[in-house]
Amino acid sequence: MKQLISAAGRLVRQFPRTHLLLSMVLLGGVILIAFRPDSTETAPERVQAISLPERTAPAPKPQTTSKPAPATPQWQTLTVQSGDSLSSLLHPLGIGAGQIDALLKGDDKLKRLTRLRPGEALEVIVSDSGSLTNVRYHPSKVETLTARLTGGGWNVRLSQREYQKQTRFAQADITGSLFLAGAAAGITDRLTMQLANLFAWDVDFALDIRKGDRFRILYEELYLDGEKVGEGDILMAEFWNQGRHLTAFRYETLSGDVEYLNIKGDSMRKEFIRTPVAFARISSRFNLSRKHPVLNRIRAHKGTDYAAPSGTPIKAAGDGKVIFAGVKGGYGNVIILKHGQIYTTLYAHMRSFAKGIRVGKRVKQSQTIGYVGSSGLATGPHLHYEFRINGVHRNPQTVPLPKARGINDNERAEFLIAANRLKAQMTLFSEASTLASSDVF
Ligand SMILES: [Zn+2]
Repeated sequence: MKQLISAAGRLVRQFPRTHLLLSMVLLGGVILIAFRPDSTETAPERVQAISLPERTAPAPKPQTTSKPAPATPQWQTLTVQSGDSLSSLLHPLGIGAGQIDALLKGDDKLKRLTRLRPGEALEVIVSDSGSLTNVRYHPSKVETLTARLTGGGWNVRLSQREYQKQTRFAQADITGSLFLAGAAAGITDRLTMQLANLFAWDVDFALDIRKGDRFRILYEELYLDGEKVGEGDILMAEFWNQGRHLTAFRYETLSGDVEYLNIKGDSMRKEFIRTPVAFARISSRFNLSRKHPVLNRIRAHKGTDYAAPSGTPIKAAGDGKVIFAGVKGGYGNVIILKHGQIYTTLYAHMRSFAKGIRVGKRVKQSQTIGYVGSSGLATGPHLHYEFRINGVHRNPQTVPLPKARGINDNERAEFLIAANRLKAQMTLFSEASTLASSDVF
């Protein structure tokens, strides 16, 4: 620990004082500490930023506009106006349909040129003899499509610039909802959602959140030419929930799949998600001797009810196959999914089914299968959800869920190195934030 603190201290000393403002915003008991790229950014008062060393490659050189010798034809920039097509843009330069046809047939990648949008720029070179010889176009902020006419036809290249990535740190105590805590920590709803999805198999965000729960994350911010253009993925997340400590590491497998794993290399995903409706409120629990609210007599409640606004998407709890989609008495519109040999899940009182959902259809975990409603015997819009093993009803909130496959044995060593690197970074950021805060107060 001592070494870590001094490492963090060394690190902090490496950076100019002005970058060492601390953000410590007390928002209804929520303590947040967020790091930002620079202190001039609009942020709550007394926000400060700390930069940690980068593990990413230096920024790629900005594209230089070519400066051809006076004799050679010049690049011309054509700006796409509303209603423009490739031919209407090129026609004034004397480029006819024949040349455009040959260009578009030159390579599949050039099909992008048929989907030009207003405001975009198309750069071209037209030779003295009136031939289109070079085309340059940016289908997106990071892509450049270049085409050059050679003796053998069009030579086409689609290159992609890499985002510069900065690792950021955020943490918050949860006193209200996860979203409030996320907002207080300065992260976007998209990132909070990613965080929630990461732990969705272990934490029921409708039910399990307690005062004193907290999280901290490392995530990526994406930059182009020094300008922030968005957020990347969560790299590592820790969640303290009712005394449990959950940790997830982002890992890209050799086959290029991105997985979130715990330190043992087990997938954070399970074969089933715990809650098939995002951020709903539990309105009735699994209870074998409940008095039915509509029938008003004792009738076992063999599932969990999630109250949510009508129309809220309902997600498949796991990969599976639709074995029933229709009306079932008091259950109203019902979908039953079969997962493997022994599991089935049931979703009742739906307002409607998602498009394409019918018996025999395969669904993926978290795929929207329908929408919350109050069809059948229901006092208000909610999802009635049942989980069965070998036909026996189990409490969806507490039934042990089988895990999805984890890391391959041949990648375990590699994963551990990556995970421990992230862990060390998390500690460093965390120590630096504590250090910086004690500096100010
Ligand atoms: Zn129910």
